[in-house]
Amino acid sequence: MQVTGTRQREAWLAREFPPVEELAGGIWSVPVPIPDNPLRYVLTYLIEHRSGFLMVDPGWNHPDSWTALTTGLETAQIPLSAVTAVVITHVHPDHHGLSRAVQEQSGAWIGMHEREDAWLGGLQAEPSAVRAGLAQYMRLSGAPPEHLAALTARQPSGGPGRGMARADRTLVHGDLIDVPGLTVRAIWTPGHSPGHLCFHLPERGLLLTGDHVLPRITPNISVYDLESSPLDDYLDSLAALRGIGPDEVLPAHEYRFTDLDARLDALAEHHQERLDEVSQALGGAPDGLSAWQVALRVSWSRPWEQLGPFQHQAALGEVSAHLRHLERHGQARRTEADGTARWHRRSD
Ligand SMILES: [Zn+2]
Ligand SMILES: [Zn+2]
Repeated sequence: MQVTGTRQREAWLAREFPPVEELAGGIWSVPVPIPDNPLRYVLTYLIEHRSGFLMVDPGWNHPDSWTALTTGLETAQIPLSAVTAVVITHVHPDHHGLSRAVQEQSGAWIGMHEREDAWLGGLQAEPSAVRAGLAQYMRLSGAPPEHLAALTARQPSGGPGRGMARADRTLVHGDLIDVPGLTVRAIWTPGHSPGHLCFHLPERGLLLTGDHVLPRITPNISVYDLESSPLDDYLDSLAALRGIGPDEVLPAHEYRFTDLDARLDALAEHHQERLDEVSQALGGAPDGLSAWQVALRVSWSRPWEQLGPFQHQAALGEVSAHLRHLERHGQARRTEADGTARWHRRSD
């Protein structure tokens, strides 16, 4: 993998904010800050077409983020009214938080995968049901009662679905985005979220990967409901990008890079190592373990006690996704008692 967003990478290393950049062929990269978040910014892309601009991922819902987006557009000399369409890789608040504001100011239509729109609809209609579902899932994962309130209380987006517009047009795999004189194809890549999309510009040799493929970090893969296997989805979605061979990858965080297939290999390898680690933890526990107990036994970027509630929640989701993958592939089984699932290595 080779970094092509060298100014972005230098800024990343210097802990500075990267510049607004014009890429080849009327494409702009505008960094939009995510306040108090180690990811620091989302890269919003503006892509010129025959009658205006397509915007991808407008960014986090915060006054500072809005200011950065609008001043970035001024730098690029793109009036908001020239944005005719906004497409979203996925509805996480760092990508989709400003969509309603952009829609109101520009009149652009909003497009996203039908599963993201459905999820957002549920979140906005019944936030308390979503929180209750999360609490049930945390209990199922074996989170100790004293952690439950903190795990389910935090709303990092400032409120469920705040600022997030529903889809004017829902998209599915293979759809061509409706912009004149430009081919932009949606590639469905579930895993990080159930309706995550990448956007391919074959004539330009570019692939926008959202959070699905990032150059440095591995995206969080968490369970999205009580039965699916998001890690299976994610690994299939990595495989789905193999062979596209774009000249350059435009991710939603960090910096641009090339040699996509090498990065796909590294991400798949990371999850294989993680699966081995989770399987080993189960192997050392003849009576089985809850997902919480597995999380205490595998390695994290910092000691478990130093992680906050939101990171605990993400970590628990990540462990559960790996446990379900092992289950689906006959390497683990689960039993359930008193509302908590216990996981056992299949060979035991
Ligand atoms: Zn995300
Ligand atoms: Zn993100």
